[in-house]
Amino acid sequence: MYWKQIDKTTRVQNKGQYTEWKQQIADECYNQCVYCSIHENPWGGIDHYHIDHFRPQSKFEKFTHIITNLYYACPICNKFKSDDWQNEPDDLEVICYPDPSDHNYSDLFEIDVNDFTLKGKYISSKYLINRLYLNRPQLVYERRESFLKLKAEALINETMKLSELSDDIISLKQALLQIAKLTQHLHTRGNICPYKLVEIKKPNKKKS
Ligand SMILES: [Zn+2]
Repeated sequence: MYWKQIDKTTRVQNKGQYTEWKQQIADECYNQCVYCSIHENPWGGIDHYHIDHFRPQSKFEKFTHIITNLYYACPICNKFKSDDWQNEPDDLEVICYPDPSDHNYSDLFEIDVNDFTLKGKYISSKYLINRLYLNRPQLVYERRESFLKLKAEALINETMKLSELSDDIISLKQALLQIAKLTQHLHTRGNICPYKLVEIKKPNKKKS
């Protein structure tokens, strides 16, 4: 779970209503919440995610159907953000929502590798953490799992390199075996997401 900057140059402005563009918005936002970076899959797919009006509809009506004002958000972030709008996102050091097209959110935070909580690097990102509860237990859990998987994979790669250099092949092979088991274990744990089992797809509407 890592943030990805949204590429505004490839976004397509269609005619019509924003409510018809959910799949497009999901695709352009990599099918994950732009604020907390949780992918839609553990939440049951697109039907459970929301279209976020970056500049809230209630305060910026003219941006209601402007594609660059629309992002993909999980229901929790979307609810906490609601129609909150403090300042224009021109300066990271004022209270505001940094625009996910202007910033890679990964650059706004630091992850504490001891407890997997987020720390804001700027006044704006500190505000985001507080306002959207970006240290809620589910997100801390997901961060920990991602971190452990990456670390295990890095360990294996390192051991493979060592095995090519060393004469003590037997002990290295044993170490490699252990790390392989660890990775397999972590992947198995990562794959067991109870909420994946309840993924709901919208049935295709049949023409009568
Ligand atoms: Zn979210």
